[in-house]
Amino acid sequence: MFTRRISKSQFMMGLQCHKRLWLYNYRKDLIPPVDPARQHIFDQGHEIGALAREYFKGGRLVAADYKQLPRAIEETRKLIKTGAKIIYEGAVVFNNVLVRPDILKKNPDGDWDLIEVKSTTAVKDEHYPDTAIQKYVLEGAGLKIRKVWLMHINNQFVKNGPIPPKDFFTKQDITGETADLKAAIVRNLEKFMEMLGRSRAPGIGIGRHCSTPYECEFCGHCWKGIPEYSIYDIPRLKWEQKNTLKAMGILRFRDVPEDFPLNDGQLLCLQVEKTRKAVINKPAIAAFINGVKYPLYYIDFETIMPAMPLYDGSRPYQQIPFQLSLHIQPKPGAAVRHLEYLGDAKTDPRPELITFMLKNISPEGSLLAYSASFEATRIKELANDFPAYNSGLLGFTKRINDLMKPFQTRAYVHPHFQGRYSIKKILPALIPDMTYEGLAIGNGGDAQLAYLDMLSGKLPPAEMEGIRTALKIYCGQDTLAMVRILEHLQKIA
Ligand code: SF4
Repeated sequence: MFTRRISKSQFMMGLQCHKRLWLYNYRKDLIPPVDPARQHIFDQGHEIGALAREYFKGGRLVAADYKQLPRAIEETRKLIKTGAKIIYEGAVVFNNVLVRPDILKKNPDGDWDLIEVKSTTAVKDEHYPDTAIQKYVLEGAGLKIRKVWLMHINNQFVKNGPIPPKDFFTKQDITGETADLKAAIVRNLEKFMEMLGRSRAPGIGIGRHCSTPYECEFCGHCWKGIPEYSIYDIPRLKWEQKNTLKAMGILRFRDVPEDFPLNDGQLLCLQVEKTRKAVINKPAIAAFINGVKYPLYYIDFETIMPAMPLYDGSRPYQQIPFQLSLHIQPKPGAAVRHLEYLGDAKTDPRPELITFMLKNISPEGSLLAYSASFEATRIKELANDFPAYNSGLLGFTKRINDLMKPFQTRAYVHPHFQGRYSIKKILPALIPDMTYEGLAIGNGGDAQLAYLDMLSGKLPPAEMEGIRTALKIYCGQDTLAMVRILEHLQKIA
């Protein structure tokens, strides 16, 4: 039997996948370094945690981190013993499980409330066991827990000046739900300890659990034998069907039998994969092209979506456009002109962005975007948040065409698309001389992190300038790619 201590996070890993918990304990060497996107999530979580402590003012923080656990445990014990009323990040152990509750609040009768803080905008299924294991440990260690609260971000909050914690958060009483889970917690703990006592990792295959509810850090290890274009890439294939194929020993998409139940789009992708020949529906592509009116405005936004709103009038996780690339083509075959807007990372970029759009996009012609619902939604939000520009902005949304449509509707399927239709996948297949590889910023996630870095105000001017250049190259590439893709479609049709 395993006798070492596990943490709440490890308990949650075990619920997701026994193998994940086993690997975490014995093969930490397989965990890749934390990437900037994940680091940003951690940093954001810390910011939210700090604001939550403002909600329950006057508490005592147990600052010792995971490297100083004995100190943290002892400090917490002393705080409880000496009558602390509110404890942040306390460390408590029971039955070889360590928990660090975000906030413990003592009631006048001596009972405690457990408050778990999450950066989500709603209570999620995984939050119940997350809090139930904490309650189990705290009660086992002798604290009487009266209420369990899940405190999450209030998605109706609109910033207007400094953020008041009482308005920013919503508290939900989940005492009943966590109580119902007590027996399951004990059962699972026994299973985990028994499994961790074994010398070999459990024989668990890959599946939906590798990314649900959390992205597993061992994907690079467990998924390494999967071929590049596999059954896991088949668009919209249900997990049950993927598992059936895997049980049949089929991993490569091209090996899927033709009589396997697939929908029309999946069958078309399979046909293209088996024959290695593109399927092109010329009338459908011609119809799309005929629906596009010159002058053409190719647009692409880059956005940030901070959990804690940065600008007055914005909400948590609202997508805030900070950059727009615009290629303009007056008529078919004419030279394109490129214009762009990029925020200064000091002020709210939206007013200037709106002015830029209204100045440079005429009242005639089509706007083209790739996955255009994103751009249309951002424009509608701008119209809503800046009502003075409402009619001009809403006029744009009526003229947006989606360049993704011919690919999404499978009017054009190429073997190199590998069942997908994102611009990153389409572009190198259709326009081989254009690629995102080698760009300092090569995707929307990186662009977002780069702008957040600029917003931090900590970068030296030369680095700021370098990021501005990289952002312009990346966003400009997105709209230029659209120009080239439309040209390609025009030639075909
Ligand atoms: S990648 Fe999947 S199978 Fe492997 S440990 Fe993680 S969740 Fe389990």
